Amino acid sequence: MDQRARLPASLPCANPTASLWQTPLADIADIQAPELPAVTDVVIVGSGITGAAIAWNLLSRAKSAGQQNHARLMNHATHQRVGARVLPPNRVVMLEARQACSGATGRNGGHTKAASYRSFLAHERALGSIEAACQIARMELANIREVHSFAKEHGIDCESRSCWTVDAIYDPDQWAHAHEAAEAMGKAMPGEDVSRYEFHTPEQVRERFHLEEGEVCGGISYEAGSISAYRFTIGVLKLCLDRGLSLETSTPATRISALEEADDEGHRWVVETPRGLIVAKEVVLATNGYTATVEPRFQGIIVPLRGQITAHRPGSGMPKDGLQMTYSFIYRDGYEYMVSKAEGSSHAGDIVMGGGLVKAPDLGLDEYGNSDDSTLNPVISKYLYGTTPRYFGSKKWGEDHPDGRVRKEWTGIMGFSPDGFPFVGEMPGRPGLWVSAGFQGHGMALCWLCGKALSEMMSGRDGEELRAWFPDAFRVSEERLLRRFDGVRHTPVDSRTEPRH
Ligand SMILES: Cc1cc2nc3c(=O)[nH]c(=O)nc-3n(C[C@H](O)[C@H](O)[C@H](O)COP(=O)(O)OP(=O)(O)OC[C@H]3O[C@@H](n4cnc5c(N)ncnc54)[C@H](O)[C@@H]3O)c2cc1C
Repeated sequence: MDQRARLPASLPCANPTASLWQTPLADIADIQAPELPAVTDVVIVGSGITGAAIAWNLLSRAKSAGQQNHARLMNHATHQRVGARVLPPNRVVMLEARQACSGATGRNGGHTKAASYRSFLAHERALGSIEAACQIARMELANIREVHSFAKEHGIDCESRSCWTVDAIYDPDQWAHAHEAAEAMGKAMPGEDVSRYEFHTPEQVRERFHLEEGEVCGGISYEAGSISAYRFTIGVLKLCLDRGLSLETSTPATRISALEEADDEGHRWVVETPRGLIVAKEVVLATNGYTATVEPRFQGIIVPLRGQITAHRPGSGMPKDGLQMTYSFIYRDGYEYMVSKAEGSSHAGDIVMGGGLVKAPDLGLDEYGNSDDSTLNPVISKYLYGTTPRYFGSKKWGEDHPDGRVRKEWTGIMGFSPDGFPFVGEMPGRPGLWVSAGFQGHGMALCWLCGKALSEMMSGRDGEELRAWFPDAFRVSEERLLRRFDGVRHTPVDSRTEPRH
């Protein structure tokens, strides 16, 4: 692992595999102003859900009514036509190395699922405080709910669905752990939705969830959801464009350096790109698994891990109106996660199944340090192809679709950190350089509110109110930057597995 973690980070690669969510591509996928702005207030690097959340929060806080009025006049058509040199006073430029939202967010499992019981006891142990573990669990559920309610409030067409999820557990130790953790959460947060879990016997798993009984120990169900994270984020980016965001795709940040002294207006950072330089007052790294490419202090600290997903056409025996819940399948060393495409969406009913990492040689060791999402791991492909008839049972699955079981498969890059927590805040000793990255493949339960927290910090509102809901464990600190990644943290029963969705 040490060697894999030390592999030099690389920029997002050209020609990534295309995910099902990216079909069709968004109309802003290749948006770019004729000229890159030379000067701005804030540069955000990265256009995934994190970058979008930060841009939204910063732009929504344009201080004076004058700023807001001006921003409202800017729509993305105007932005393209006049070029980004005409920016509203609260100027935010977002740089994206490839197409808009083409990182993990555009290619994930679409599971808005906290599975907080899976990490709760480990968090309590690591942080030495049950209250700290409760705060993380509460934030995860709040994050999921806010994503779905934001989509609804702003009419973003993104297959947003709040529903229950079930974890079918195939390992007795994991099963025992689930009981222990759910009980501890119930005691620590009595009556709260975050600690509401229901357990199911193997027979119930078979009957209620359409699964093969097999060797399953039982199931645990709780609140979760599914969403096209791609379409959600594109929707947020469009709202930001309406408020004056300058989104520059195909524009990688290749180097970020500080001027010896800030100018009179406070510009102190220089961001280099192949299209020229931008001078900014503040720079935000929303680059997740790629963060070490622009801030070398993260080399070996935020480590890329490649994940793989398949989209299965439903078999003939699957419910005609689709599956009404989302699923995870948990076994000794790892697990799979699964959502079905929502009614009314393209390829409705398709089953999106990700995971299989530990089925690759050495429990998937070669996928760590790997930021190439232009290729697939054939061992994982083969394994994932077989998951649907196995989990549902060949009888319940039925015949494969005449066009073939697997419609599409793709890979994406996550960012893992030594202690299993994201890094959110200002870089020590580098005023004006901010980061929100390292989401462990668990970003749909974290990124939105981490983005909100970061924008609070940037706006000087880092006080009691923020500390009441935002975990200290997520903040950037010199001490955390001294640790090195040596394996996945905070998974139950001491297993070294994939993230918890
Ligand atoms: C296969 C897979 C399945 C997943 N499934 C789930 C799931 O079901 N549920 C869940 O909660 N989480 C899931 N995740 C994790 C989740 O998708 C991520 O945690 C989340 O999307 C991270 O969002 P982000 O905006 O921080 O990063 P990203 O979406 O990766 O965005 C970072 C962006 O920065 C850009 N970039 C990087 N470097 C530069 C640079 N130098 N210059 C310009 N641009 C740059 C990248 O191109 C990218 O677009 C999954 C991840 C993967 C890969």
